[in-house]
Amino acid sequence: MKVLRRALIFLGPPGAGKGTQAREISRRYGVPHLSTGDMLREHIAKGTELGRRAKPIMESGQLVSDQIVLEMVEERISRADCAGGLLFDGFPRTLAQAEALEKIFEGHHLGRPLVVNFVVDPELMFHRMSGRRTCSQCGQIYNLHDSPPRQPGRCDICGGALVQRPDDREDVMRERRAAYERQTRPLVDYYQARGQLFNLDGSKDVESVRRDLLALLDRAS
Ligand code: AMP
Repeated sequence: MKVLRRALIFLGPPGAGKGTQAREISRRYGVPHLSTGDMLREHIAKGTELGRRAKPIMESGQLVSDQIVLEMVEERISRADCAGGLLFDGFPRTLAQAEALEKIFEGHHLGRPLVVNFVVDPELMFHRMSGRRTCSQCGQIYNLHDSPPRQPGRCDICGGALVQRPDDREDVMRERRAAYERQTRPLVDYYQARGQLFNLDGSKDVESVRRDLLALLDRAS
């Protein structure tokens, strides 16, 4: 198995393919995949107080508060499985989160994170998000347009039912894109200025993006 020993950050607008690629990279490198969106959805599914607060915000396409997200992240990365590297998907999403993350990392020994910026144009992003279906059991991601399951509505891996995320509705998608432009895009300049940013063309098919990503990680890590 390949060794990572550092933190990776997957940056990019919703629908860029970060989650799909993160699952594969996490398996290959044996590092935990930390998706703040998945963590929040777990809180909602379990009906926790945090989940109850986050649900209406997520369903409107806005970002959840920095404080909520940072608490979740700090707790998660203090666990032993993050000591050999980790992969953030959908975090940080604001400048305040990025600055807080630098402080969090000072207490860990992972060096500077490497940031992969998934670049896709908005029309492709809407097309992908409208076709996205996720396995309700194992979390595998499908796309009805480009990578459909073998049997409609069922996961190829575990047979679980495929569901559409409530925030993949068109009106919410537009708000999520706007939140990205307003709050997350400034992170591209932030990490570029620090020499940590690597751009990746996320508009290709899943296999091609995976190949490009693996080559990039080989070069950069
Ligand atoms: P995702 O699964 O990454 O697309 O995230 C789904 C939703 O969860 C987002 O639209 C936000 O409402 C919320 N969310 C996930 N990660 C963050 C974050 N780092 N900061 C704020 N809100 C987040």
